[in-house]
Amino acid sequence: MAGDPHMTHRMPALFVGHGNPMNAVQDSVWSRAWSALGRKLPKPGVVLSISAHWYLPGTAATAMVRPPTIHDFGGFPRELFEVQYPAPGNPALVPRLRELLAPVAVRADLAWGLDHGTWSVLRRIFPDADVPVVQLSIDETQAPAFHYALGKRLAPLRDEGVLILGSGNVVHNLHTYAWGRHPVQPFDWAARFEALVRERIVQGHHRALVDYASLGPDAELSVPTPDHYLPLLYVLGASTQDDIVSFPTEGMDGGSISMLSVCVQP
Ligand code: ZN
Repeated sequence: MAGDPHMTHRMPALFVGHGNPMNAVQDSVWSRAWSALGRKLPKPGVVLSISAHWYLPGTAATAMVRPPTIHDFGGFPRELFEVQYPAPGNPALVPRLRELLAPVAVRADLAWGLDHGTWSVLRRIFPDADVPVVQLSIDETQAPAFHYALGKRLAPLRDEGVLILGSGNVVHNLHTYAWGRHPVQPFDWAARFEALVRERIVQGHHRALVDYASLGPDAELSVPTPDHYLPLLYVLGASTQDDIVSFPTEGMDGGSISMLSVCVQP
């Protein structure tokens, strides 16, 4: 493998379980693991981020030169609202996205920016904010298979210096989530669903993960709404058979938020 320039130049694709936005400012096992991951990853030319928090009708890409840092949450301490992640944008990527995703229309967006799904993670992975970032929205009107297919069409970007980043959570149930800093045992259904997802990823059994809704009551509780799960399908779609899969972070926060991350790399 070493010596093959194509292999060495292909970027990894990464799904990160972002969880509580406080991971952006508080020291945690996950924030530390994200920092460590950043030191190991090859430095990309651009990050294309698919965040759970940009979930709306249609596919859009941020097209501004300087995407603003969006504080898209309420009820958190002031220090979190003061975080800025001044990474530049990369409007030149938008026509390339249109080319790859056609006939799906990609709207050039000048109103969004970088939401906390993106910056809470990236400020640990690339703390210097010197890698340009483009966000791609998740079309909420589309079925999971659509998102997996989009991931497949984005795969060539990995050979063009683009790090595809999915930011969400494999298990994301806020109704059962224990707020606060005391450790809580994971719910059985959450642990089971996370283990199943992990197993299917290792097996390369992506179809089962696209059809997650048919995985029974554990899936229903773990994925009550699709927004945090779908970013995973982009990363799996962008993976190839030769990729090596690793799980740079794991663990369950508050009993029902999986902090599992998935890295696929040559
Ligand atoms: Zn979130």
